[in-house]
Amino acid sequence: MFGVVPKVLWERRATADERNRITLALRCLLVEHDDGLVLIDTGLGNKENEKFRDIYGVDNAGQGGRTKLEDALREVGYTPDEVKWVINTHLHFDHAGGDTYTDAGGKISLAFPKARYVVQKGELDFARNTNERTAGSYLPHNVQGIPFQLIDGETEILPGIRGIPTPGHVPYHQSVLVTSGGEQACFVADLVPTSAHLPLPWIMGYDVQPLVTLETRRRLYQRAAAEDWLLVFEHDPTVVSGRLGKDGKGVGLVDAVALH
Ligand SMILES: [Zn+2]
Repeated sequence: MFGVVPKVLWERRATADERNRITLALRCLLVEHDDGLVLIDTGLGNKENEKFRDIYGVDNAGQGGRTKLEDALREVGYTPDEVKWVINTHLHFDHAGGDTYTDAGGKISLAFPKARYVVQKGELDFARNTNERTAGSYLPHNVQGIPFQLIDGETEILPGIRGIPTPGHVPYHQSVLVTSGGEQACFVADLVPTSAHLPLPWIMGYDVQPLVTLETRRRLYQRAAAEDWLLVFEHDPTVVSGRLGKDGKGVGLVDAVALH
């Protein structure tokens, strides 16, 4: 998760278990929009097998629903049928795996049957044409059978909800900027997966274009600081969100909202 950053440095920010794994969240963002519910990313879903769940230490089974995401929707009073839009930042298994689900018989169906699914056009092409380096993250059952609505570049998907290209992790990765009541929140997804990844060169080994990630971050940070955006972190196990601040000479976080 920390690429070329030495473990002696990153383990001050994230504790590894005996198999060298760190705890990560699969935090999706639900927006209560005038047009209906908008769900940004869908987590891992329930389609992966026992071996996969063991490798990644997946803890995503629902109590009442199929996944923890469906449980969380129910907790705030909604059902999957009420989600009108699903926006995927990209199609890696930990972001789009929950677009669909499998039943006990192995049949795969849309997890949000009444929703329109939105993704960048370039991302769908990239996900469907894998190579040896990218195939491990783009699983065929996450890129087939979903009636995606494609957008191309920066797009206002709905009033106040913009897809913003933030390439680097993958070439057509997008972040989602939500504007409401004069404030802006940006769901940065894998551009900055956790608050520990805020320093410009703390880039994941998973990123296929690490130097592009660096420049995308530099640009996004300038805009985020100038417009006082709230940044929302998809994979941070404790820090949900915060605003950019200074940490010595580097980038830090202020107004952090953390779970206990
Ligand atoms: Zn991810």
